[in-house]
Amino acid sequence: MNADPLEIQKFSELAHRWWDPTSEFKPLHEINPLRLEWINARAALSGKKVIDIGCGGGILTESMARKGADATGIDLSDKALKVADLHSLESGVQVRYELIAAEDMAAREAGQYDVVTCMEMLEHVPDPGAIVKAAATLVKPGGHVFFSTINRNPKAYLYAVVGAEYLLRMLPKGTHDYGKFITPSELAQFAREAGLQVDGLKGMTYNPLTKIYSLNQDTSVNYLVACSRPL
Ligand code: SAH
Repeated sequence: MNADPLEIQKFSELAHRWWDPTSEFKPLHEINPLRLEWINARAALSGKKVIDIGCGGGILTESMARKGADATGIDLSDKALKVADLHSLESGVQVRYELIAAEDMAAREAGQYDVVTCMEMLEHVPDPGAIVKAAATLVKPGGHVFFSTINRNPKAYLYAVVGAEYLLRMLPKGTHDYGKFITPSELAQFAREAGLQVDGLKGMTYNPLTKIYSLNQDTSVNYLVACSRPL
């Protein structure tokens, strides 16, 4: 199985705090409007069939459903999925959650989705290329696939590990493993090998003074990639 049990356990242990906007998941809450609008601008979510791979507690999944998408979230953390499910019941937003590996879902529901998202997850799996391939299998011809992850270079180590985990203490120590970070060119290579076309690359930065995240051209630490499956 293409999953690291320790990674899944890490997220499971924190899952009860997933929707607390002041918790370890604060960064995901703060970046969510930015990534949601970026995805929506490219893929017009309303009425689309969407699958969110590595959905966790469902911050992005639920927000896509609120935009009118028919949304499914999959993850391998049972606890995170339970939290996601409870939250969607509470907020009255219709979302389907399932504990299933991306590769298994791809075998079962190939070519059935207009939009596939996989955010902040590839840097936690042993074989990210296989997840990219599963995403490419799940999407319909002409559909969109979005990824986000962390670049691998000295600045990314300084900001995403030393800065976020040790200096600013925004994330628990050990959240990220530098060796698993992925450069944009590696991710683009995975995408092309999976038959996807790379349409755009966006940087995401955090200003520790203003505490504000923004999307821009600086892909040196956090970044998002937009892909599509040719018709
Ligand atoms: N995508 C969500 C959550 C990111 S946290 C968001 O951006 O808001 C990373 C998530 O990936 C966790 O929920 C974790 O359980 C999940 N994950 C890690 N490895 C996985 C794997 N191999 N398969 C599916 N999910 C995985």
